[in-house]
Amino acid sequence: MSSSFEKLVLPGDNVGVAEEYVPGRNVTEVDGKLVALVQGEVVKNDQRLSISIEGSKRKLRFFNGDTVYGQVTKSDQKQILISVAGVQKGNSLVNCMAEGYIRLGGGRRDEVHQPPVRIGDLIRGKVIRVGQNLELTLNGSNLGVLKSRCSRCRTVLKAQLPDLYCENCQRTENRKIAPDYGKLKI
Ligand SMILES: [Zn+2]
Repeated sequence: MSSSFEKLVLPGDNVGVAEEYVPGRNVTEVDGKLVALVQGEVVKNDQRLSISIEGSKRKLRFFNGDTVYGQVTKSDQKQILISVAGVQKGNSLVNCMAEGYIRLGGGRRDEVHQPPVRIGDLIRGKVIRVGQNLELTLNGSNLGVLKSRCSRCRTVLKAQLPDLYCENCQRTENRKIAPDYGKLKI
């Protein structure tokens, strides 16, 4: 089983030649070329000399320390729920679908007690525990909110360190923001 997530391909991508490998799962042969049928990760089996595409995003494994991207979907006094949509693997951002959460107060003394984020915020977090869902943290200098909207008028907030500012309402809002807030194309 390959552990490399770097070779992510799209349907129609050329993934090898039929002289070297036989088409495995989700791969077909077209004029001597092996072509991906689904989006996914290239998996080479060097015993059977086959190339397959692992299409299921659910197979993607997460590890403690992984940097993930997602959107805040729910927030209360105990936890923040995050719909994780991407994970950093090496130099590439891999699409994924996972549920994440940030625990507030309680267990961790160093955790902030006030929700540092609001529903709809796009965040960069770090995985600190891999269970059925991913436990995340925003505690880290490069972590936090990347894009946020005004809770009153939904205008995208501008960074005005250390706060965020709504030019429409002329008021500030408080978040735990990432240093590159507003600079990422998302
Ligand atoms: Zn506003």
